[in-house]
Amino acid sequence: MLTCPTRRTFLKMTGGAAVLLGLGGALTVLPRKALLRPPGGQDEAAFISRCLRCDRCRSVCPTAVIGLAHLSDSILDARTPVMKFHLGYCNFCNKCVEVCPTQALKPFDSKTVKIGLATVQKDTCIAWDSRGCMVCLNACPYHAITLDGQGHPRVDSHKCNGCGLCEKVCPALVMRSYIGGNVRGIVVTPISRKGDDSV
Ligand code: SF4
Ligand code: SF4
Ligand code: SF4
Repeated sequence: MLTCPTRRTFLKMTGGAAVLLGLGGALTVLPRKALLRPPGGQDEAAFISRCLRCDRCRSVCPTAVIGLAHLSDSILDARTPVMKFHLGYCNFCNKCVEVCPTQALKPFDSKTVKIGLATVQKDTCIAWDSRGCMVCLNACPYHAITLDGQGHPRVDSHKCNGCGLCEKVCPALVMRSYIGGNVRGIVVTPISRKGDDSV
């Protein structure tokens, strides 16, 4: 037999629902910053709805470039795979796609896929400070970096696929660490946050 809830129980139930609704609302309106996903995960809506946070992609990556997003990124993104180019770079080997059980990471065309876009950081790039550094230019496998007339690196956005090797090898972090620097001179950013330094 159904019984009517007491007023106190009713208030508890509706209060709980309001909290949940409020939390849901907050989750919906909180802005999610763009994250760098492994190749094949660039359709963010499809990716986030399919990723199981199972960690298979991260465990199989031969260059250890895949890390985990944190709660501070957003509740929705926590423990999803993100590219950490201070750890490694992407050689587009396809292994992460092969092990993904849900096709959150979809098969990609290695000739056209773009994880992100490298952008030169004028404040930290050694070449912008004192000229002479060409580490990223020499490392880029896709010849996407050239020097302008002042010896500053420039990124060709058509050639750069966001592999992250330039960020991985950039020495600015080490050389400036004694004055508190913690950012490399070139970083890969999501396409939606394209920097001004790409050409
Ligand atoms: S394609 Fe290969 S190197 Fe790139 S993230 Fe996937 S497993 Fe790592
Ligand atoms: S393998 Fe696929 S489902 Fe598992 S964490 Fe990676 S992207 Fe998500
Ligand atoms: S991320 Fe860096 S190394 Fe990779 S293609 Fe772009 S400019 Fe070249």
